[in-house]
Formats: sequence, C-alpha cells, structure tokens
Amino acid sequence: MPKILAIGPYSDDDHAALAALGAAFLDGPEGLGDVAERDAVTAVAYKGHKPFGAAQMDLLPALGLIANYGVGYDAIDTAAASARGVKVTNTPDVLNDDVADLAVAMLLMQGREMEKASAWARSGDWKAKGEYRLNRKISGGTAGIVGLGRIGREIADRLAAFKMDIHYFARSEKDTPGWTWHADPVSLAKAVDYLVVALVGGKDTEGFVSKEVLAALGPRGIVVNISRGTTIDEAALLDALESGAIAGAGLDVFLNEPAIDPRFYALDNVVIQPHQGSGTVETRAAMGQLQRDNVSAFLGGSGLLTPVN
Ligand code: NAP
Repeated sequence: MPKILAIGPYSDDDHAALAALGAAFLDGPEGLGDVAERDAVTAVAYKGHKPFGAAQMDLLPALGLIANYGVGYDAIDTAAASARGVKVTNTPDVLNDDVADLAVAMLLMQGREMEKASAWARSGDWKAKGEYRLNRKISGGTAGIVGLGRIGREIADRLAAFKMDIHYFARSEKDTPGWTWHADPVSLAKAVDYLVVALVGGKDTEGFVSKEVLAALGPRGIVVNISRGTTIDEAALLDALESGAIAGAGLDVFLNEPAIDPRFYALDNVVIQPHQGSGTVETRAAMGQLQRDNVSAFLGGSGLLTPVN
C-alpha cells in the first residue's frame, strides 16, 4: 500500500480530501524522524516555506514524489530530489489572478495612501479637521515588472488597463508588442515610476533588486513585491524607505516571515501584507485540488500534471 504523508498546515477541506486519499499528517518537516512507518512513504504533499532538502528526503527511503502546495518551490531542494529520482510538482497558473490582484491593490494602496486615509476617517480627523491631504495619481504612470512570468504577465496586463506604459526585465525578450524589454534591472528601474517584483525565489535571484536598483528607481519610486523576501536586498530596501531614497513599498513577502524585521512596523510608507497573495477560498481550493491531482497521478502511474524536475 503506497503511503502519503501530508506535511504542513492544511485547511479543514484540504485535510479531509488528503485523508480520503489515505494520507498521514505531520505539522512540519522537523518532525519527520519520528514518523511511524516512514520507510513506506512514497509521496509527500508539502505545504510551507521551511526547507525540505537532502536530509529530509533521506529520512524517506521509498519517496518518489514531493507535491508542493504553491507555485514557488524554493523551499524544496530540487537538485537533491532529482539526484534521488524524486519528482517534484507545484501548483502554477491557478493562483495568477489573485497574486496579480494583490500586487495592483498594494500599488494603489501605497500611492493613494489608503491605509492612512482610512485611519483619518476612522479616527474622527475627517470630521474634526476636514479633507484628507492630496496624494498621488497612479494611473498613467510607467510600470516596471521584474520577471515577466505567469504572474508578472497578469500584473502587466492589469497595469496596462490602468493606462500605464509597461517595461519589464526578463532574461530574454518576450513577444510583447508595445512593451519595453530591459536586459538589466538597473536600466529598468531608471525608466519607471513603479517596480513590481514577480521573480522566482531561491539562490539564483537572491538580492536581485539591489541597492543600485533601488537608487536607480529614485525618490518617487514605489516598489511592490509579491515574489519572495529573498529577491530584494531587504536591508537596502529598509534603508531606502527610511531615508526617502524611494517613496514607498507594498510588500506581501519578507525575509524571516512571519517574524519580519521590526523596522518595517515603524514605517508609514509601507503597505504590509501577511504573505496572502494566493489567500482566497477559491484559489486555495484550486491549489489543493491540483496538489492532490498530482499525488493521484503519481500513485496511479499516469503523467504528472505540473512537474518541475
Ligand atoms: P514563472 O512563470 O516561473 O516566472 C518567474 C519569473 O522569474 C520569470 O520571469 C523568469 O524569467 C524569472 N527568473 C527565473 N529564474 C531567474 C533567474 N535566475 N534570474 C532572473 N530571473 C529569473 O513563475 P510564476 O508562476 O510567475 O511565479 C513567480 C513567483 O511568485 C513564484 O516562484 C513564487 O515565489 C511567487 N509567488 C508568490 C505568491 C504570494 O502569495 N505572494 C503566490 C504565488 C507565487 P524568464 O522569463 O527570463 O525565464
């Protein structure tokens, strides 16, 4: 009997659906050594951002599949998986709309000062002191997308509908009539008002949005990040936000989540979201379904739906 081990915090619906497939459950990878019958585990349904690497895989000698819940699989060491003949799958596309929606919402919230304006109304200042101060027009600006992949493209499409001129960085030029490709992020940042980061995470993109990129964006620039905390040099970002070297940021992802750097809490030019880009009932249901479909395909011996290695 093949054995599925579901690792991570699952919703009640996902838990029930995984249990119906016969899964056993574990809160996080640190408990792996104590799993009963771990020698029999052939498939892991993985959810979370804690590293899952060679050490964890070696505790599961019969492992053939790690089905990740989420499109970003930077927590999983895919090279170690491939070296052991373990397949990895993710959940692409089903979350593009929600993540792109949140990116645009954070840009609008930051530019239109919606958090501060809301506090102005709620606190009674509106009644006592009058109109909220004028803020900043966002439509019609120039947007720079760092990473024009599945989610980046959805963000660009939305911003184009906001009458923006679209620029982007990717490792090679895409078929994007009317949009401007930049081969390096400094050139992109120089050209735009807003920088929206939609790169993959992981070692290769660590600190990709560097101090130099932020300096090139300049004091009216707004940074939005829905990718991973690792893709921006976070110390440089905090310095730039504190000094006014850039105007503001909208951030869904951070280093050391959820224990984020407390310097962020003191800043009133940052919109902070608790890594909830794909966090809607509808999209999380679709992600769970795709994860389980990959597990079922693996157990049934048919082709994996969304393999990454
Ligand atoms: P994707 O389609 O694979 O696009 C990734 C982009 O990253 C591509 O533009 C790709 O550039 C670029 N890239 C990859 N490796 C690179 C490297 N070494 N150097 C520079 N650029 C590189 O991925 P996606 O589906 O759009 O997802 C993007 C990321 O969003 C995920 O990996 C995940 O981390 C994050 N995400 C966050 C949330 C959230 O809740 N905030 C939700 C879902 C996803 P090329 O076009 O040149 O290949």
